[in-house]
Amino acid sequence: MSATVKPHVLVVEDEPVTRAKLAACLVAEGFQVSEAADGKDMKACLARQRPDVVLLDIGLPDESGLMLARDLRARSSVGIILVTARQDETDRIVGLELGADDYVTKPFNPRELAVRVRNLTRRVAPTLAAERQAMGVMTFSGWTLDSDARLLLSPAGESVRLTRGEFDVLAALARNAGRALTRDQLLDMTPHDAEAVIDRTIDVLVGRLRRKIEADPKRPAVIVTVHGVGYRLNPG
Ligand code: CA
Repeated sequence: MSATVKPHVLVVEDEPVTRAKLAACLVAEGFQVSEAADGKDMKACLARQRPDVVLLDIGLPDESGLMLARDLRARSSVGIILVTARQDETDRIVGLELGADDYVTKPFNPRELAVRVRNLTRRVAPTLAAERQAMGVMTFSGWTLDSDARLLLSPAGESVRLTRGEFDVLAALARNAGRALTRDQLLDMTPHDAEAVIDRTIDVLVGRLRRKIEADPKRPAVIVTVHGVGYRLNPG
């Protein structure tokens, strides 16, 4: 994880005031924060985001936070912190048995919460990085490209729509981040139908990608032109 990428926390809590407090506390501590109001919302977020830690209220209106924790753990090594009421000791123990990593109790102490979340993001980082790599997830300049889900996430965690050709060129560049690739190499690495090649010349696709991902497409910093060779993606 590069220094410019903030650890991403998904806060799942149905009470708007508590959710806002949790989110504000984490934002103030330098985390990138997404919010979900219930289990359904959490699943929708997870379909387009890859948080490092999920802060999960066990008392949700639609689904048990404990069951959500179990399902999350079955699918990934994402960090899971349960948010429980002080009297819910049994639930806390069950939650830890089901795979949650830690818990905080309400009313929460903001400093304690931040320390617990930070410790957990550090602890899960190596496992998550390996898991993402195995799943075909690549990161560059704060962007995340998930080749299995064919998903591109911005540094702010928003998904960006790419055409198949754009996705394939970006994936080829990301797999070879830091290396200059020629247009021929990029064409070879990009599955395409013979008829579509004219439409999808590499320069056109790179131009479209730059408009989607570069802060200033006229002065690209992510996909740079290597004169006399082709293109290189900056791993930064
Ligand atoms: Ca609740």
